[in-house]
This record gives sequence, structure tokens and C-alpha cells, in this order.
Amino acid sequence: MNIAFLGLGAIGRPMATRIAAAKLPLTVWNRTAERAADFARTSGARHAATPADAARDADVIVTCLSTSPDVYSLLDGPDGLLAGMKRGSTLVDCTSGDPGTSRRIAQRLSEAGATFIDAPVSGGVTGAEKGTLTIMVGGDAAVLDRVRPVLETFGQKIVHCGDVGAGDTVKAVNQAFLAIHLLSAAEGLATLVKEGVDPTKALEVINASSGRSNSSMNLIPERVLTRAFPRTFRLALLEKDIGIAADMARENRVPAPVTQLTADVFRIARGELGEIADHVEIVKLVEQWAGVEIA
Ligand code: NDP
Repeated sequence: MNIAFLGLGAIGRPMATRIAAAKLPLTVWNRTAERAADFARTSGARHAATPADAARDADVIVTCLSTSPDVYSLLDGPDGLLAGMKRGSTLVDCTSGDPGTSRRIAQRLSEAGATFIDAPVSGGVTGAEKGTLTIMVGGDAAVLDRVRPVLETFGQKIVHCGDVGAGDTVKAVNQAFLAIHLLSAAEGLATLVKEGVDPTKALEVINASSGRSNSSMNLIPERVLTRAFPRTFRLALLEKDIGIAADMARENRVPAPVTQLTADVFRIARGELGEIADHVEIVKLVEQWAGVEIA
């Protein structure tokens, strides 16, 4: 099975590294060509000049770009994916995407005799490096079964969620939970510090109590209390994700004030902190507004 991987960003690169380490024949392409050239040098993968060139011999094409519209933008033109894809091949989109655009991509591919599954991932850069990502899949179950050996190189838990777009919907709601938990943990801890409570003591209690979350158990102890704030997942991408969740709630007429409000706060934070800030840096904004450091 020949694999092509497009999008060697923060999480795409370690995912592609897992595919190369599994000795599957791999071709890579990245918009900023130097990143793909560097990856090819260290992994032995072939570096393709264009998306069409990457897709040419591939049975499975994996994309991991910022947004679904970015993936759609690669389809057309003489260098586009559709110019290279074989009939019978499958595009596996690991982007945290939006279901509407995924359905449009699937339609375009089916007209060309190819198949599509949306397969967003969770577990962060560390999960990608270890091959322990959770993968939520939308699309035909038989197509998933065919590409499963590729997904298993970087994923541990693979769940078929429904038709095309279903993976994106689950991912967006998961990301809304992350954004809400992170923001509420920052607000609560800023308040406790102002009350004179040591945040380490507060987290010792909360992490053995019903208010705990991945933010309280991992993100805040490892990244905020240490003041390390490593840049592994851009806040701009989480803002995109919770925006998808907010849109989905609105389109389905689900009253979701917590999601909508948190989406607004993340939009403000993206404007204030810029495109390269990490998602956990929203805590710095809460600290700034509160005039206190969670430390
Ligand atoms: P990065 O910003 O690090 O990388 C984005 C990648 O997409 C780069 O390869 C970039 O190319 C490429 N890209 C962006 N726009 C375009 C475009 N218009 N045409 C072609 N290529 C494009 O993002 P991540 O790797 O962190 O995230 C990728 C996806 O995975 C996102 O949807 C994100 O939400 C999701 N995700 C990320 C996680 C993480 O921990 N980082 C965890 C789980 C999901 P270039 O190098 O040229 O900029």
C-alpha cells in the first residue's frame, strides 16, 4: 500500500514519522517545501513537488492541514490532488475539519472514482509521537477497514462515528469541552489565588474531586504552574474548532450559551495573542484581566 502524507505541521510531522517507521512506502508534500525536504532527508520518504505528484501512485492519501477549506483548496488545478489521484484511492483527512466542507470534498472525490473519510485525531503531539492518538472517523465502514493499517501506525483508539462528517462533529464538540474546561479552570484558579490559596493545594483537592478535567489534571500543572507554556497546539486552531462547534449548535437550534460565549472569548484571545500562541496561553489573558499570576 503506497501512502502519501500532506501537511507536516506540529502534529502532521510526528504522524508521518510513525508511518515511515512502520516501513510503509511514503511520499510527502508540504506547502512550505523546506519542511517536506527536511522530513524526506531524515525519514527516507520521497518528497513530492506538488499535491498531484504526491497522489499519483498513492492508494491512501492522508491530509493534516489547518482547516477543511485548506484541504478543499488542494483539490483543483493542474497540480491539485484530483489531477493525480487514482480511481479507487482514498483520501483520509486528519484535519480537525468542518462536516459541511468534508461532505463537499467527499462528493468531488466520488465523481473522480475515489473515496473519502474524515479522521480527525486527539491526543496531541506527544500522542502522535507515541502512536497513541484517538481517531474519530466519518465515512464508509468498508473504506475505514481498508485504510485501518495506516491509521494504526499513529492511532490506538479508532472509533467509527457515522457517515462522512461525523468524525468532524465529534472532534468539534470534544474541542469545545477542552476550551470550556481550560477557560473555566483559569477563571477559578485566578479567583482562588486572589483569595490567597496556593494553586498547587487547590489542584490537589480539585483533581481528587468532581470538578477535575484534563485541563486541571495535566495542562495547568504541567504548563501553567511551571510557566513553561510550550507551543504544541495553536490557540488559533482551538478557536477554529470551538467556532465549528458553536456553528453546529446554532444550525441544529440547540441553545448553547456556554459554547457560544467561550467561542467569543477565544475569538478575542486569538486577536490579542496572535496566530502562533499556544491554546494554553489563554490562561495568560485571564491572568492579565484578573491582575494575578496562577503560580
Ligand atoms: P500547524 O499549524 O502546525 O500546521 C498546519 C499544516 O497545514 C502545515 O503543514 C501547513 O503548511 C499546512 N497548511 C495550512 N494551510 C494550508 C493551505 N492553505 N494549503 C496547504 N497547506 C496548508 O497545525 P497542526 O499540525 O498543529 O494541526 C493540523 C490539524 O490537526 C489542525 O486541524 C489541528 O486543529 C489538528 N490537531 C492538532 C493537534 C496538535 O496538538 N497540534 C492535536 C489534534 C488535532 P505550512 O508548513 O506551509 O505552513
